[in-house]
Amino acid sequence: MSDEAQRWKDKYLISLEQQEQLEQRWAGRVDLLRRGLVRSSLAAEGVDKAVDACMKEMREILRRDDIDSALGELIPRLEKAVLDSDQRRQQRTGEALEALQSMVVQLLKLEPPREVRKSLKDLGRQLEDAAGQVYLLPAVLSRLSRLQGQSLEQLRDALPEPPGLLQRLFGSRGEGQPAGSPADDAERLATPLSQAVLADSLPVPLTAPPAATVLLDSLPLSAALFLAETDQAYDLPEREPGYSAIAPRVADSLRHLLSELELPVRHQPQGEALLQRLQGPLNWYELIPVLDDLAVLVLAAADSGQREFAVYLKQLNERLEAFIGTLSQAGEGYGEASECARHFDRELRAQVADLQNSVQGAADLESLKQALEQRLEGLLQSVSVHQRQRDELEGVVAERLRGLMQKVAEMEEEAQQFRQHIEEQRRKSLLDPLTGLPNRAAWNERLELEVARYQRYGGQLLLAVLDIDHFKRINDGYGHLAGDRVLKIIAAELQKRLRKTDFIARFGGEEFVLLIPSTPLEGGLQLLETLRAAIEACPFHFRGEPVTVTLSAGVAPFSEGASGDAVFEQADQALYRAKGAGRNRVEAA
Ligand code: GH3
Ligand code: MG
Ligand code: MG
Repeated sequence: MSDEAQRWKDKYLISLEQQEQLEQRWAGRVDLLRRGLVRSSLAAEGVDKAVDACMKEMREILRRDDIDSALGELIPRLEKAVLDSDQRRQQRTGEALEALQSMVVQLLKLEPPREVRKSLKDLGRQLEDAAGQVYLLPAVLSRLSRLQGQSLEQLRDALPEPPGLLQRLFGSRGEGQPAGSPADDAERLATPLSQAVLADSLPVPLTAPPAATVLLDSLPLSAALFLAETDQAYDLPEREPGYSAIAPRVADSLRHLLSELELPVRHQPQGEALLQRLQGPLNWYELIPVLDDLAVLVLAAADSGQREFAVYLKQLNERLEAFIGTLSQAGEGYGEASECARHFDRELRAQVADLQNSVQGAADLESLKQALEQRLEGLLQSVSVHQRQRDELEGVVAERLRGLMQKVAEMEEEAQQFRQHIEEQRRKSLLDPLTGLPNRAAWNERLELEVARYQRYGGQLLLAVLDIDHFKRINDGYGHLAGDRVLKIIAAELQKRLRKTDFIARFGGEEFVLLIPSTPLEGGLQLLETLRAAIEACPFHFRGEPVTVTLSAGVAPFSEGASGDAVFEQADQALYRAKGAGRNRVEAA
């Protein structure tokens, strides 16, 4: 090989080696770039849907070999998506800043103290400069929240002290004026409920909690505390909030339910564990398992209640057996005592007879004296023996009687506790939880009683059925919470206008039933008309807009031999006619 050829060959080999090194370096770089791209595409995810889709596609391309053409096609699309996303982000930031600006303006309108005002204005300027600088938002928000707190604080300080809860419940009447006087009652009838809440102590009906309690119970505490003007009690709550907003209330109710349960000892650890889980607000996905566990505990509590009662009955039975045993022992004691007395009597007679014989048979004074002494000695002995026996027996009998009395006292005590327990359970089972009025079960009981009384003593008895008009529209228009509030308020409004002898119950849904004894039909119609007008006049409102709620009613008198069901049917027919005739009216059967 010539020198020239050798030179070319060497050159070729060197450049081949360089080429290989270059390729290796390139492959390393491409690999680094690939990894870098994958990482940054993951980091950029979540900002914009279209950008996310491009990023995903890019990661897929980077895993393949033909990245050149595929990337070439993707990059222009990615550029556009990023551009669009950026525009949208700027727009969103602008809107957020605008909203914050308007908050600043509103806070300024509250005329906060000078320093707060100055800081607010500062913040306003900072907001103007912050356009496009999203990362500034957290700091701005926290500053705004602090200033808002300060502005509202001075506002609250300026408000008159709201009356205390107790003061509003029990009124601010003068010391000397008695509660519940007739004048009071008249005033109460003429006063809308919320004023009653503010200034009057409502009488407590036996069958239902006071209307004020019903109302205040239904309000969130903050709202109840700021009840100030007449209409506030009639303000209907906002539409149903999302689950997260009611989660604390749900947990609250469940906690209350759990604390009311009388759990058997065996289930108490489960109860405590569940209570722990209910300490904070519940997530929606925790709710179902919590309800399931609670259901198990409720069943256990009911079962244990029954078992406890069975155990009590068994104990009572055993005690009674023991009692009868002691009683017959006492009887035996008495039998022994009377046998003993008879024996004493016989002995006494025999001794006296002996004495007679001795006296008759005595020949001289000395033998008479001896016979007498002997017999008298015997007599005295008999008497003291008898005395001793009687004392012993009496002691035994008295002991047994004491035992008996103690057992009776114990049984009475236990029976009393059970009676109270049963009475409490019964009371709860007869009340409608939403309105606090007697429920349908209570109605059935009372109806039976009043009908029996009417059949026996005669007189006058009316039955009325009341139904809220277009109640579905209230639910549909303002939500179920508002519907519930309306039901509560109407129940309280009706209840407070009735006499003690009248009886009202929630029959179901938006239907109420009324028993009016000792009243002629005209009187009943008058009462129902008063009730109808009172409900129509209730100043309900939703977001400041008035909401009128009305009801229709049908009333029927009892006549001799008529059953409760038959008269109910007549009143219901009359109600149907009232609905047909345009609602918000009262019809008689
Ligand atoms: P009408 O004037 O003919 O009586 O019409 P209405 O809409 O009052 O009667 P309807 O029987 O069609 O609807 C009654 C509604 O009452 C339907 C039901 O959802 C609602 N409701 C029943 N019980 C309750 C309750 O406890 N709370 C709430 N918020 N709504 C209830
Ligand atoms: Mg109705
Ligand atoms: Mg109805």
